[in-house]
Amino acid sequence: GRADVLARIDELVRLVPDYPQPGVLFRDITPLLADGPAFAGVVEAMAAAAPEGVDLVAGMEARGFLLAAPVSVALGAGLLPVRKAGKLPGPTAVEHYELEYGHASVEIHPFTVPEGARVLVIDDVLATGGTAAATVALLERCGAEVVGLSFLVELEGLDGRARLGGLPVDVLVRVP
Ligand code: AMP
Repeated sequence: GRADVLARIDELVRLVPDYPQPGVLFRDITPLLADGPAFAGVVEAMAAAAPEGVDLVAGMEARGFLLAAPVSVALGAGLLPVRKAGKLPGPTAVEHYELEYGHASVEIHPFTVPEGARVLVIDDVLATGGTAAATVALLERCGAEVVGLSFLVELEGLDGRARLGGLPVDVLVRVP
C-alpha cells in the first residue's frame, strides 16, 4: 500500500550536499529506481492518485521521464516528453522561464497534443516550481487541460506549489 511505499522512499532517496552547486541538497533517486519493488510501488502510488480520464502523462526531462513513462502505461495513457532546449526535431512549442541564475526553456511537439487533452504532469522533485509552472503554461497554450501534477518529493520551504495556480498536486513525500 501507499504507506509502505512512503516509508521506503525516505531510505532510498539519497541526500547529496552541495550538488550540483554549493548550498543545494540534491535528492538522488537512483537507489529508488534500482529497487524493483520500491520503484513499482512508487509508480503504482502515482497512478492510483491520478485524476480520472488522463489522456497524456507529461514527464520533464530527464528524471521526470523515468516516472512518467511507467505511470502512462499503468494508466493506459500516452506519454509526452517535455524536453530541454534544442532536443526535439520540431516543429516545437517553447516556453522560456527564469532560474535563480539565468534562464531555461521547455519544449514539446504540439502536434502530439490533441485539443482539450487531459494531461497529468510528473517530475521527481518540486523545488521552486519554475519548471512545472512553465510546463503548465506551455501545455495550456497548446490547448491541453492540465488536470493535475504529481511529484515524488516536494521541498515545501521553496513554496513551488504556490506557482501552480491551485491545480491538484499529489506528492509522495514532503520535506521542509
Ligand atoms: P524547480 O524548477 O526549481 O522546481 O526545479 C525542478 C527541477 O530541478 C526538477 O526537474 C528537479 O528534478 C530538479 N531539482 C531541483 N531541486 C532539486 C533537488 N534538491 N534535488 C534533486 N532535483 C532537484
